[in-house]
Amino acid sequence: MSQIADNIARVQERIEAACDRVKRDPADVCLIAVSKKKPVADIVAAAQAGVQHFGENRVEEAQTKTPQVNRAYDGRLIWHMIGHIQSRKARDVPSLFQTIHSIDSVKIAERLSRVAVQQKTECEALIQVNVSGEGSKGGLAAYQWQKDPALLERLVNDVRVITSLPGIRIVGLMTMAPFLPDPEAVRPVFVQTFALRETLSAQLKLALPHLSMGMTGDFTVAVEEGATMVRIGRAIFGERT
Ligand SMILES: *Cc1c(COP(=O)(O)O)cnc(C)c1O
Repeated sequence: MSQIADNIARVQERIEAACDRVKRDPADVCLIAVSKKKPVADIVAAAQAGVQHFGENRVEEAQTKTPQVNRAYDGRLIWHMIGHIQSRKARDVPSLFQTIHSIDSVKIAERLSRVAVQQKTECEALIQVNVSGEGSKGGLAAYQWQKDPALLERLVNDVRVITSLPGIRIVGLMTMAPFLPDPEAVRPVFVQTFALRETLSAQLKLALPHLSMGMTGDFTVAVEEGATMVRIGRAIFGERT
């Protein structure tokens, strides 16, 4: 077996074990292989090993790589945009990606909505929330939302506006936890994101079935706390240079 296929099998085993611990069905966790900065050959190897979902974080890189992957691999792959989207790049997003995880402001949501409607398409999307409070992370501000009624009201209003837009169909929330050596230390970020989803869903009477959370360092904890999509790069493709 190739190294990448072997890595994928390991990651899948760890997802299954995490599901087992909390009595979840592994079929409810979608593995997204994050292929940013990795060559087309590695993506094809992962696809041949059975991965269907791939995540990229830059529009230009996806524009270069996806046509090459599509030529080299004879099967349907699903592309996820997981990085911040600049306004001037928004017009290229709907044709490249089936799912957008990084709706991190009302402004970009409105821009993507206009673009999708113009292009007569609809994208699945998730709203990124910054639950950790780190300045380096994007997303709607959500740090300590449970203790801050004004912040929650702002979140509810922003999510109401975003979910009412045509062309983007909001299916859940995405978050990034801080990079910490001990994955247990980030469990509260996932717990609070799950609870925020429940609150928004109840207040706005919306189905928000998906939670995109968990990366190489913390995905088993994220799965235990309800992740339905995990975004994994290094554990599949190795370190990025
Ligand atoms: C790079 C990246 C990942 C994957 O990180 P790994 O640590 O390589 O698993 C996941 N999500 C986002 C938003 C990323 O930018």
